[in-house]
Amino acid sequence: MVVYPGLNIRGTCENQSCLGYHKGVWVKKEYGQMSLGHIRAKNNCPACKEPMQSSSFKTLGYRCAKVEFEGVKIVNGIDVDFNFKDE
Ligand SMILES: [Zn+2]
Repeated sequence: MVVYPGLNIRGTCENQSCLGYHKGVWVKKEYGQMSLGHIRAKNNCPACKEPMQSSSFKTLGYRCAKVEFEGVKIVNGIDVDFNFKDE
């Protein structure tokens, strides 16, 4: 398992001939401002290079990076705006 500086996301490869089949694989993302939809879209498995389903990505991690999250949190069906900063 290799995690690169910056943002990385962890998903599951569905290619049965891949060493990462049904195991978590980390996909390197770029530095910069990104939306969650952009982060999960159009990723290829680092082991077999096959496209991965965006729904397979459940975890993200970062290394050597300053990160800020912005979003909307939904509690009991009610949108509650929040800003989270991790420095
Ligand atoms: Zn794969």
